[in-house]
Amino acid sequence: MSQHPLNEMRSYFETGATLSYNFRKQKLKQLEQALLMHEEEIYEALYADLKKSKEEAYATELGLLLGELRLALRNLKKWMRPQSARTDLVNFPSSTKIYQDPLGVVLIIAPWNYPLQLQLIPLVGAIAAGNCVVLKPSELAPATAAIIEKIISPLFPPEYVQVVQGDGASVIPSMMGSFRFDHVFYTGSIPVGKIIYQLAAKDLVPVTLELGGKSPVIVEAGADLTVAARRIVLGKYLNAGQTCIAPDYLLVDKTAKSELIEKIKTCIDSFYGKNKMQSGDYGKIINEKRFDKLLGYFQDGKLVYGGEHDRSKLFMSPTIMENVSLDSALMKEEIFGPILPMLEFSSFEEALSIVKQNPNPLAFYLFSANPQQQQAWVKAVHFGGGCINNTAYHFANYHIGFGGIGNSGIGSYHGKHSFDTFSHAKPLMKTPVWFDPSFKYPPYKGKIRLFKWFIK
Ligand code: NAD
Repeated sequence: MSQHPLNEMRSYFETGATLSYNFRKQKLKQLEQALLMHEEEIYEALYADLKKSKEEAYATELGLLLGELRLALRNLKKWMRPQSARTDLVNFPSSTKIYQDPLGVVLIIAPWNYPLQLQLIPLVGAIAAGNCVVLKPSELAPATAAIIEKIISPLFPPEYVQVVQGDGASVIPSMMGSFRFDHVFYTGSIPVGKIIYQLAAKDLVPVTLELGGKSPVIVEAGADLTVAARRIVLGKYLNAGQTCIAPDYLLVDKTAKSELIEKIKTCIDSFYGKNKMQSGDYGKIINEKRFDKLLGYFQDGKLVYGGEHDRSKLFMSPTIMENVSLDSALMKEEIFGPILPMLEFSSFEEALSIVKQNPNPLAFYLFSANPQQQQAWVKAVHFGGGCINNTAYHFANYHIGFGGIGNSGIGSYHGKHSFDTFSHAKPLMKTPVWFDPSFKYPPYKGKIRLFKWFIK
């Protein structure tokens, strides 16, 4: 065990080198500079892996990451400062403070769909909190995995931050089986999330699991359908639908359905042009395996728009389907591609029963002009996070935590929440010695009334 290469990280952490404010600030600044220095190569990698345009790559990856980095740099001192807490009467005249302790050596596992930011935004939190970090990029986005290593390896010594590449199914169990991490932060699918949870459980390693699921978008009668169409199309077809918080399926009030479909079609054409394959703003499916899976969903209903595809180019156009059975794979599995099943409803209860078929969505979206209805939905559905009259954009708000509930995950991050995820809030009470009343000590006989007065 002592020969394990990751033990060098543990030893380095235990020297206390990562603890000071100056160290953490310097590392965050170095990361920011290195990202900016490699900006063009990052765009090239994201294009190679997912055909992301520069603009999309900035808006949904690099820009979000830089925003988180700069937020951490501005607030690091405040986040690190021990917080005063109140002290109860029993403990008078003690004082209490909460210290933010780094966790130690942590593992951050990323998926392929936003392969840069989903790897490095958690890293910002882990560095800010004073940890040593192992990064495991997705092998399915190899160009981005390579640029991450190219940026990180010369920047940080391996005992502080290191990148481990390879097939997750073998590399991760082997690492977690032979080294006890102090935290594992995983983003990816539910089935692999369960494997990670089990690997972590045997050593009581705490986890953050950022998973997926079927996120509904609901459009009520009376909603602004023009805006709804635009925002649904953006959230759904961004990155060719390969977004964990994309609206997975659409539930629309029967009376608004035909108008909404027309508006969605118009939006798709205006965003991506008549020839979607030529669009510089429309991505590709990650690989043949995922492409074939998505193509299979075409059997689960009627195509009402799109459906064009070319396996050799991993191209699948923005697609809308209807007449979809609730028992079909399309309505039971997370689609994770550019296919939008559209279902209609006649009442709140009917729509809610459909949503409840796939409980605990990672995201929930509602287009509604009615504040009472908005509240009714928010109370009725237990979801990770969401938007009213918008889709996906809550992810970009670093003032709020991002994460799932139940099936869609455990824990949250972004902004201060990332710092908290990678810290242990360590409470410490300090008691002066000048006041030490004897009634606190045995013998207790006859003190019950006094205790009842103090302890309530
Ligand atoms: P995945 O679970 O297949 O892979 C994620 C990571 O796990 C990769 O680094 C991979 O190497 C590793 N891995 C794969 N198999 C493993 C195994 N058997 N044991 C240990 N590690 C293994 O996920 P994916 O296909 O890359 O990503 C898609 C999924 O991720 C979707 O379900 C999506 O909703 C979800 N996702 C969630 C978020 C979020 O923030 N909640 C963000 C993006 C994606």
